[in-house]
Amino acid sequence: MTRPILPGATIGVLGSGQLGRMFAMAARRMGYRVHTFSPETDTPTGQVADIEITASYDDLDAVRRFAQDVDVTTFEFENIPARTVEVVSEYVAVRPGGLVLHTTQHRLREKNFLRAGGFPMTPFHAVNSIEDLREGLRILGFPAVLKTAGWGYDGKGQTRITSLTEAEKAYQALNGEEAVLEKFVDLEREVSVVAARGADNQTIDYGVIENVHRQHILDTSIAPANIPAPLCEQATEIAHSILEQLQIIGVLCVEFFLARDGKLFVNELAPRPHNSGHLTIDACVTSQFEQQLRAVCGLPLGSTERIRPAAMANLLGDLWDAGEPDWRAAAAFPNVKLHLYGKHQPHKGRKMGHLTAHAATTNEALQLVCAARAALTKRD
Ligand code: AMP
Repeated sequence: MTRPILPGATIGVLGSGQLGRMFAMAARRMGYRVHTFSPETDTPTGQVADIEITASYDDLDAVRRFAQDVDVTTFEFENIPARTVEVVSEYVAVRPGGLVLHTTQHRLREKNFLRAGGFPMTPFHAVNSIEDLREGLRILGFPAVLKTAGWGYDGKGQTRITSLTEAEKAYQALNGEEAVLEKFVDLEREVSVVAARGADNQTIDYGVIENVHRQHILDTSIAPANIPAPLCEQATEIAHSILEQLQIIGVLCVEFFLARDGKLFVNELAPRPHNSGHLTIDACVTSQFEQQLRAVCGLPLGSTERIRPAAMANLLGDLWDAGEPDWRAAAAFPNVKLHLYGKHQPHKGRKMGHLTAHAATTNEALQLVCAARAALTKRD
């Protein structure tokens, strides 16, 4: 094992959103310095980092200067161009490595990796032409979901298809981009497992988290998930196995579909802390962000023990429709924690912050965060 990177050292973060922000907060709390690199200024990560570098990911001179000033680098979203990561890794370790990014930043590569590993997944068909799409629909049937192979998140680049006419339209909208057709799963629920692997190969998980999406965007999460123990075991085993197969050093989130017939399918992978793991900040001994830091720095992993059942509710830009939310009303819930990301433009569907609570039961915690969220926009 290489020598650990200790407090006082500088961590580079590629990307500058809320995940980088919460990572930087964990890092600075433990005495590390943080440099963030992205094309934007006054970013969620930049606001709490020691240094915010603003340059295009393709500006390789700027990338080199960034890499020379840090002791190790991680990324906070997986769509960093491969060349940027390659250049950084000429100077310092990038954790997790470029291979992980390469696999997970492209749906088809990710699905092929999962299929080769024998993991249970939603039936899919690669689409490079309208003939592929027709063939896929013949095999998978209706309804199906067409997803772009690259650069998709929060349901962006996804179309549900229920007829051949819709298929033609959806294909046109791809503009020649590579895509994946997936069978539409009759969902009982959606769950995720946030897990981590250290530089010493130890793997650890936070148990199964249950997620509710609204318009393809995560709305609420509760932990522990309300699913039978054998399914929990299956889901966590899959997460550990993927961490090992991809040789990830850092946090991984595996998102699953639980079908009405009781079958579990891997939906997608995120090789980094994940929205469904935000509740670990307030509810667990070690947050997913501190865990990422520990792994990236080659320190032993921290305990994932959850203090009590917990819940999280996302705060999307939609909450700003009638003006600034009433923060005082949310603060009136003494057991609810407010997290805001410092974003200036509250667009529809944009993740602006979240609320978390822990309580005696997940139901109680969920009621608390939902009531606090409702209070934000209640006008007398
Ligand atoms: P994704 O970006 O692939 O995680 O999709 C976002 C959300 O869309 C998921 O969390 C599901 O709620 C829904 N979804 C995506 N693919 C499917 C599918 N094949 N069957 C049913 N629901 C889906």
